[in-house]
Amino acid sequence: MAYMSSAGESNATGCVFCDHLAQGDDAAANILYRGDGVFVILNAFPYNTGHLMVAPLRHAADVTELDDTERGELFAVTCSAVQIARGALGAEGFNTGMNLGAAGGAGIPGHLHMHVVPRWSGDTNFMSTTADTKVLPEMLADTYAKLKPGFDAL
Ligand SMILES: [Zn+2]
Repeated sequence: MAYMSSAGESNATGCVFCDHLAQGDDAAANILYRGDGVFVILNAFPYNTGHLMVAPLRHAADVTELDDTERGELFAVTCSAVQIARGALGAEGFNTGMNLGAAGGAGIPGHLHMHVVPRWSGDTNFMSTTADTKVLPEMLADTYAKLKPGFDAL
């Protein structure tokens, strides 16, 4: 959430997701995958290692704004992300879900996104101590490099 708030202050369109999509350098923007209707981006301030988000390419705020194709692709790519993170990071479990609207806790209420947070047995303490800590760029780049081949194969 902190990442979304701070990153949103200096963008041009008012949406950090749309700005990252328009940036022109997917590796620098931590974008792992672009599909027909959705994309996958690493959270720069992850709740846990490998925390990524699956979001529509279109600036849509709510699940009710997606068409059937986008809904199907959103869930299919979420499933792929689970499979890829399990294989590449050895994740033992996952938290997946969406926060709709500011009242629902969405960090970017204007642009729908599905969180995929890999979990490992005994990681609760790790999460609580690092939830508000910026992860070093090298660590994000390392995670990106581990996950990218899986998404390239989709
Ligand atoms: Zn957007």
